[in-house]
Amino acid sequence: MVNKVKGTYDILSEDIKIWHFLEQKIKEVTKKYNYTEIRTPIMEYSNVFHRESEQSDMVLKETYNFKDKGNRDLTLRPEGTAGVIRSYVENKTYATSDLYKVYYVGPMFRYERPQKGRYRQFHQFGCEAIGYKNPLLDAEVIKLASDFVKAIGLKNVIVEVNSLGDSESRENYYKALKEYLIPFKDELSNDSKDRLERNPLRILDSKDKKDIEIVKNAPKPIDYLSKESKKYFEDTIKYLEIMDVKYSINNKLVRGLDYYSEVVFEILADLKNFGSQNALGGGGRYENLVNELGGPKTSAIGFSFGIDRLILAIKEEEIQLEDNDSLDAYVIMFSENELDYGLNIINELRSNNLLVDFDFKTRSFRNQLRRALNNNSKYLIIIGDNEKNNNLVTLKNTITEEEETINKDLLIDKLKEGLK
Ligand code: AMP
Repeated sequence: MVNKVKGTYDILSEDIKIWHFLEQKIKEVTKKYNYTEIRTPIMEYSNVFHRESEQSDMVLKETYNFKDKGNRDLTLRPEGTAGVIRSYVENKTYATSDLYKVYYVGPMFRYERPQKGRYRQFHQFGCEAIGYKNPLLDAEVIKLASDFVKAIGLKNVIVEVNSLGDSESRENYYKALKEYLIPFKDELSNDSKDRLERNPLRILDSKDKKDIEIVKNAPKPIDYLSKESKKYFEDTIKYLEIMDVKYSINNKLVRGLDYYSEVVFEILADLKNFGSQNALGGGGRYENLVNELGGPKTSAIGFSFGIDRLILAIKEEEIQLEDNDSLDAYVIMFSENELDYGLNIINELRSNNLLVDFDFKTRSFRNQLRRALNNNSKYLIIIGDNEKNNNLVTLKNTITEEEETINKDLLIDKLKEGLK
């Protein structure tokens, strides 16, 4: 037997219903906010993600990097934003649109330790609004994200916001944080020791018990904000209130990637069985990425949701989806003698856009009935000798159990009437 790759999984028919539901909601919500879809390649040149300024664990340790036959360095995308910005720069979108609002949906790849809610191939829905630096836009993007979780019916979610500040604020904060952490160096977890030089901000986010204890009294980014960043954050909060977004401020909130500055946010599932992988999505403002990838200095803000985790949350909250996978009718034929007659009927029903199926082997009536019910068919169309010879069909409603034998030519109208 050949197995699936570790950390990947098949999406089978019982879950595909939830996928279609989510994809529909993504379309509806993004349309409301005037975002259009973008589809960028799954593989990019490695330097789209591996940039000098990006020293996050995720990019350094978890990307799938390989050489193609032309000896080019390629990376499977671990996230959506960098590819969108590469496209924005390459297509010179900035020349034609001062605010570019796009969304994407697709698989991402990270070499992580697989567990519930954490996979090596997972899927994200994300939005990017590129071009303006305005707290109103930050608030609108957070509003969009929180509207989205509302639209899918999730109730137990928390929206957390924080500010990391502009580059001046962050420089001051990094200094203070390092000064605070250095005396604890030997007590930190190995991962955090390693982060101390490279990426001290991430220590705030550590799941290690000892680290959590140490950072309890660490300085907070909010206390190091420049005057401008402080005002920017306050204005964002003011607009969030006007837009009726329920949020809380989490002074320890940082993000996994280094490119964030100013406002950052996260949407968390507040569910008992959800465990440590409870971040459904998150995002924030980024100011240097367009420039780093060869475009003009341009500020942007975005977020992404993990679709796989949204699906777990939908199951956990037992959200009932509309039942739209049932058949209109299942055609039961008693023997091969009725096949020609039956197939004609099936063709006609399908060309009238009715959802119809039948058994490819003529089995016993009971077997065919079982298949019809397994497919949640609303009607049975039963065809035997009598029906075939007299241009008739027997139509049975599987819910009311009403049954009548009618002229074949009346079938479509009868069915459409009954399905209303
Ligand atoms: P990030 O791009 O790291 O900010 O992640 C955004 C969202 O993607 C997270 O909140 C998760 O919901 C989801 N996510 C990130 N990594 C994984 C993973 N390995 N498996 C499943 N979902 C993930």
